[in-house]
Amino acid sequence: MGDCIFCKIVNGEIPSSKVYETAKVLAFDDINPMAPVHVIIIPKEHIPTLLDVTSEKMDVLEAMVSAAQEVAKIKGIDEKGFRTVINCNKEGGQIIFHLHVHVLGGEKLKDELN
Ligand code: AMP
Ligand code: ZN
Repeated sequence: MGDCIFCKIVNGEIPSSKVYETAKVLAFDDINPMAPVHVIIIPKEHIPTLLDVTSEKMDVLEAMVSAAQEVAKIKGIDEKGFRTVINCNKEGGQIIFHLHVHVLGGEKLKDELN
């Protein structure tokens, strides 16, 4: 997808601080972290939002959940705890329209939604 920042990261056109990678997903540090640990997990395939995850694409969510588990272990926040967030569309706070999971941790997170 021509103008998509996250597709450009997948293609290596924009650098990223890679945390974890499989054939289906890529995880990298968020450029503007909201917590001591803030990792973004994306499918390598361009899927705009959570609403575009059709039944044929559910394997992508499985790969993203598995990646979140691995990222939490790699960052050492699995035992203490962490938060996963998927923003969807404008009022959900989605800014980049390439599906992604935020993995946040490394401190006691506030209980606010945003
Ligand atoms: P969202 O509001 O859910 O669409 O979140 C998009 C996230 O992507 C934000 O937390 C941004 O800080 C992050 N982000 C934007 N550009 C980059 C980039 N080039 N590398 C890493 N993270 C990015
Ligand atoms: Zn994309």
